[in-house]
Order: sequence, then C-alpha cells, then structure tokens
Amino acid sequence: MTVVVKLGSTLVVDTKGRVRRSLLSARAAEVGELVRSGEPVCVVSSGAIALGLPRLGLTRRPSATARLQAASAVGQSRLQAAWDSALRASGVEAAQILLSAPDLAERASYVNVRNSFDTLLKLGVVPVVNENDATATDEITFGDNDALAAQVAVLTRARLLVLLTEVDGVYAKHPAEPGGPELLADGAAATDAVVGRGSALGRGGMASKIAAARLAAAAGIPSVIASGRGRGVLGPIVAGERRGTRFAPEAVDGSTAFKLWLRYAKPAVGRLVVDEGARSALLVHGRSLLAVGVVRCDGSFAAGDAVELEAPNGKVFAKGLTSVGADEIRGRTRGVEVVHRDRLALYDTGTGSDQSGRVIAPSEADETSAAYFASTPDA
Ligand code: GLU
Repeated sequence: MTVVVKLGSTLVVDTKGRVRRSLLSARAAEVGELVRSGEPVCVVSSGAIALGLPRLGLTRRPSATARLQAASAVGQSRLQAAWDSALRASGVEAAQILLSAPDLAERASYVNVRNSFDTLLKLGVVPVVNENDATATDEITFGDNDALAAQVAVLTRARLLVLLTEVDGVYAKHPAEPGGPELLADGAAATDAVVGRGSALGRGGMASKIAAARLAAAAGIPSVIASGRGRGVLGPIVAGERRGTRFAPEAVDGSTAFKLWLRYAKPAVGRLVVDEGARSALLVHGRSLLAVGVVRCDGSFAAGDAVELEAPNGKVFAKGLTSVGADEIRGRTRGVEVVHRDRLALYDTGTGSDQSGRVIAPSEADETSAAYFASTPDA
C-alpha cells in the first residue's frame, strides 16, 4: 500500500531560491529504496512559487494571485526537473501530476485522477504532485499542500502520510518557554490549545499539518509529522520507528472510496436542518431523506451538489449529494426525495463534529456508485 510523502517549500528550496539538491537526492534515494522493496510512494512537493520568484526578479512572495500564478508557472517546471533527476538517479521514474481542487470535487474526474495514480503506482513510477497553482485562485484551491497531501492519501488509500518539515515534529512548548522544547510523540496530545498558543514551531505551518493529519486519521490513515532534514529519514518512519509526532488512525468501517470522496473531497455548498424523525430515519433505519423532514434549507444549490445535514441539536451529522435543487426543497413537495441513502456519508455522531467524524454508512460497491453518479448533472 502506498506511502504519501509531502515536503514543504523550505525543505525543497533555499533562501536564495535554489533547489536544495542534496536534500532532494537524499529523500529521492530513500524513495527509490522503498519502491524497490515493494512500497509504492507518492511525493507531494511544494516549491514551485519559491523557485519561480527569483526568475521573475521578485525578492519576496507577492500577494496578488496573478503574480503567484506566474511565479508557480515559471517554477513548477524547475521543480519537476529537480525531482525527475533526483528520482532517476535513485533508479525510479517520476511522473508529474498537477491537481486543481475541482478535479477532486467532481466524482467522474476524481475517479479518473485515482485511476491515473493507480496505474503509475502499479508501474513503479513515483507521482510527484503539486497543486496546479498556475490556474488556482483563492476561491478554487486546496488551501495548502498539507491539505492536498491528505487528499492524495485518501485518494490513493495510502497506508501512511508523512509530512516532512523543518522541525522535529509538533512541540508542546516553544524552545523559548521554560521547560521547552517538548516534542509530542503522540498527535493526540497536539490539542488546539497547544497549537493555538502559537507554541508549535512553524506556527501556522504546523496548524495546517495537524489539520491534514487529522483529516487522514478520520479516513483511517496514520500520519507522521517529522523533520525532513538529515540522513535516514523515510526508512525509519515507514518502518514504524519512533520519529516526530505520530497521529493514530481512527477506526473506519465500510467506507468505500465513494464515501471517502463525498466526505473529504466534495465541498458542501448548502446545509439542510432536519427534524428528529428524519435524523433517526437516516441514522437508525438507513432511509433516504425526504423533503418533509427538512425544516430549513440554507444556500443555493442544484441537484448533485453536496449539502451538510444538521440535526435539531445543531450538530452536523452527515453530508449528502442532493437529488433536487434548493428551490424545489423550499417549494416543499413533501414526498420528494432530497438525498438518497446511497449518496450519504454519515459522520460518527459520538463526536457530533463535522470535522472529526468518520464515515460509518454502509454503501454500494464503489464502481457501482461511480456509474450511478456518472449520470447525475454533477458528475
Ligand atoms: N503549491 C505551492 C508551491 O508549490 C505551495 C503551497 C504550500 O506550500 O502549501 O509553491
């Protein structure tokens, strides 16, 4: 099963905007060894923007989207060239995959992307993934490459997500604090309070890594946040040795790729508040949601869009693909089916959270669902 390894810009590019070739070679050599030992690896690499800036005569990261797009377009080919030569030198072929958020938000293109990964990995090729920054905008983006790496881990049903960074892992205390630094071995201790205090080294960067690790954990995939510097990094981590901060996976039952896609890759564009009868019909009896059970409909959406379902107690307990648009739901055709049970991902209501719940609904076989959705307006 696949291991997804993510490297951030500061690991890949130095302060002068040059590729850190020795670091890339060291990690590529480890990737080569893993692939030869039968462990497929997928690399998610940042650094396109950092490599592009100096070539455009820019000394610092611009805020204008168009300039960021330009920098990444200039830098991405250099980034890929660097990985290509480092991986070739270690005896494996590299492939470039640039993803845009809509590629994963549409079911049909998600399945295409997954097939492309599967084929490359089966051939022993190492996909080198980045966001397609040249066309990404604030409205259409994964957010950051930590989030992208978690998505790729879910997509490839990885057995491990490794987020490599400048520091040794998540710290409970900053080195400047009394008693610091204190490295957390277990991600469960990486509470929001620890990160929120700004105590984690890397600050915002660490918060997004923790969020990515939690997303992977909720999908049943363990993660490690660890230093990407030095020698002997990936081998020991993949072998399960104690390095950095490890996040244990949550137990996930019966979550097909379709449910994982719906849960983690398909953005919700609306919310339906349902009554208690509808909630228990969905959760306990495995029924579909009918318009009669909807007490409030927020947002404007069409058939095939994803919406969150909120219980009377205010907790979001599921995400579903709608069979009808918002206008029709508001029109209150009572018997109309709003979300079919097979197009529903139920969260673990024990947590009551819309972020940390796991997919617990049984479902149709994945490819059956794929075919089913190919005929919806959305897919
Ligand atoms: N995709 C961006 C790049 O290659 C980096 C985004 C991130 O680091 O989160 O420059």
